[in-house]
Amino acid sequence: MAQHEKLMIVGGGPAGYTAAIYAARGELQPVLFEGMQPGGQLTITNEVENFPGFPEGIVGPLLMEQMKKQAERFGTRFESKEITRVDFSKRPFQLWSNDEAWSADAVIVATGATAKWLGIPSELKYRGRGVSACATCDGFFFKGTEVAVIGGGDTAMEEADFLTKFASRVYIVHRRDQLRASKIMQDRAAKNPKIELVLSAIPEEILGDGKAVTGLRVKGTVDGRIRDIPLKGVFMGIGHEPNTAVFKGQLAMNDVGYLLVKSPTSYTSVPGIFAAGDVADPSYRQAVSAAGMGCVAAIDAERWLGEHGK
Ligand code: NDP
Repeated sequence: MAQHEKLMIVGGGPAGYTAAIYAARGELQPVLFEGMQPGGQLTITNEVENFPGFPEGIVGPLLMEQMKKQAERFGTRFESKEITRVDFSKRPFQLWSNDEAWSADAVIVATGATAKWLGIPSELKYRGRGVSACATCDGFFFKGTEVAVIGGGDTAMEEADFLTKFASRVYIVHRRDQLRASKIMQDRAAKNPKIELVLSAIPEEILGDGKAVTGLRVKGTVDGRIRDIPLKGVFMGIGHEPNTAVFKGQLAMNDVGYLLVKSPTSYTSVPGIFAAGDVADPSYRQAVSAAGMGCVAAIDAERWLGEHGK
């Protein structure tokens, strides 16, 4: 027998927690499914200096803990479970975590996105100690140093351009001899004297002294030549993947899997299902914009439930 809830929130990052704060204060008694990585992407960053309200900065995991506490204070219930299957074709909506079943009058999807990583062991070793997947979050820590951005798409160009505000030199390391990025972004990178392209090169190893990054070893795809570039930071710009596999065939998505919402609302293609945060946002992907979208989704859900007599 499925347990019935008025509002289920799927995803425990800034969007999900903020939605929970608003929904709980609106007396919707939300239950939030945090999955296996409560706190989301912010739990893998160090200092967060751009979330308003913390003039001295705050570490990512602590910020998430505080948001969770705030949601808990107003009665949000938490489940450390992952939603593995959904059926949004009829109401109440059906959701499963493996064999456990729930039904819900409304659902907020806030499952986020995951940065793509190279998958080499040294990258994991130095994550948060020179290896990052977010220039906006961590670029500031690389003032006056040399850094690299991996990737040849628009994200890599944008991250490289942003990093030149701080770094003395930014290498863009791309595996082919042609960039994938749009012409305008390529031109911007080409005009920036601090950016140097390293083309036809695959990152082989992130070099370090055990504590921090000291360089990047790349291998040429044409000549097979190994080159060690001394630097302090390596930023992944090889794309993000929205966490939407479980919603395929249920909710409308763009061609790379981000949920489509009727902006500026959080309405998805299914009335009663709302989306917030990075899962529906390929462009901004900030904690504060995700939190803002979480607030919007909770208000949308509250109004929608009211209009449908729930
Ligand atoms: P893309 O998929 O466009 O580019 C990813 C890049 O990373 C490619 O150059 C790819 O190489 C490279 N790459 C992927 N995997 C690896 C790997 N394992 N090792 C080395 N290199 C790898 O992703 P983006 O995030 O750049 O862009 C996603 C979408 O968002 C695009 O539509 C883009 O236009 C849009 N966007 C727009 C922005 C803007 O307009 N301001 C800013 C950022 C993104 P290869 O080319 O060989 O496949």
